[in-house]
Amino acid sequence: MAKIGFVGLGHMGLPMALNLLKAGHDVIGHDLSEKQVDQLVGAGGTKAGSLDDIAKTEIVITMLPAGRHVSEVYLGDNGLIANVAPRTLLIDSSTIDVETARTVAAKAAERGLPMVDAPVSGGVSGAEAGTLTFMVGGPDDAFDAAKPFLDVMGAKVIHTGGAGNGEAAKICNNMLLAISMIGVSEAFALARKLGLDDQKFFDVASTSSGQCWSMTSYCPVPGPVPTSPANKDYEPGFATDMMLKDLRLAKDAAMATKANTPSGRLAEEIYTKLSNEGYGGKDFSSIFPYLFSSLGGSDR
Ligand code: NAD
Repeated sequence: MAKIGFVGLGHMGLPMALNLLKAGHDVIGHDLSEKQVDQLVGAGGTKAGSLDDIAKTEIVITMLPAGRHVSEVYLGDNGLIANVAPRTLLIDSSTIDVETARTVAAKAAERGLPMVDAPVSGGVSGAEAGTLTFMVGGPDDAFDAAKPFLDVMGAKVIHTGGAGNGEAAKICNNMLLAISMIGVSEAFALARKLGLDDQKFFDVASTSSGQCWSMTSYCPVPGPVPTSPANKDYEPGFATDMMLKDLRLAKDAAMATKANTPSGRLAEEIYTKLSNEGYGGKDFSSIFPYLFSSLGGSDR
């Protein structure tokens, strides 16, 4: 069993670390919030006094909010890359910009440290259940070394290419998800205006060419998919502000690479409005009541 240092024990990181503990690994946790570390310790983990203690482990996993936190933890004063032992395996599962992921990976490679970027899909429930999907960028040997640990926390682990390609897959997938959720919500809003019953439209669209995950697994109107956040007053799930963060990463990536993503840019504008209207903490499928009401209807 391995000695694993885990940095970032928030909504996602804590349940991921708990699954590593349950699998018998020795997990040493670090977070700016004492409360989060205490929960790990309560479940049998160990508290790291600082990043120095994390640097003494064999494997480091980070699950941090954004690129600047990842840069600070790996490259800052007392940063992990300068201080870990040779051959320590580094796994960053945060959703961050591709450029930062590649910069950190290049610094790790200079020291001969195996590193992967391994962002996730599946949300807090997937983290708790150990059913996350990992999109992994990095060299083959680093992927092979990371996979057994990712398998403990996830149900699917996909090697998407070299350094930064895990983040690239994550950002592109979530841009597509935002666009499809807006499309499904617009279709339901128009269908209602035309006098169609929600369930009847679902029965047609979910088995026709409009079918997609946003329709059949995460339907933004209450009723047709009982497990979707629409049935729980749009409690997340995946919050609007988290989606907005990913859409901004997609916009920046599109600008940097001169990719033509007009729908992605529009999705970012629409989700910015949604957040400014007070839906930032609601599930991102709350775009439906927002669009329906701003089209002149009521939210029912
Ligand atoms: P969170 O804010 O709940 O947790 C982040 C944790 O990192 C916090 O506990 C914070 O105290 C800690 N932290 C910040 N800077 C630190 C530092 N320098 N040293 C130590 N700890 C530090 O966020 P989350 O929801 O767990 O998300 C983490 C990452 O996973 C993000 O990049 C997010 O985009 C991604 N993600 C989240 C979800 C989701 O549904 N929540 C789904 C997929 C991906």
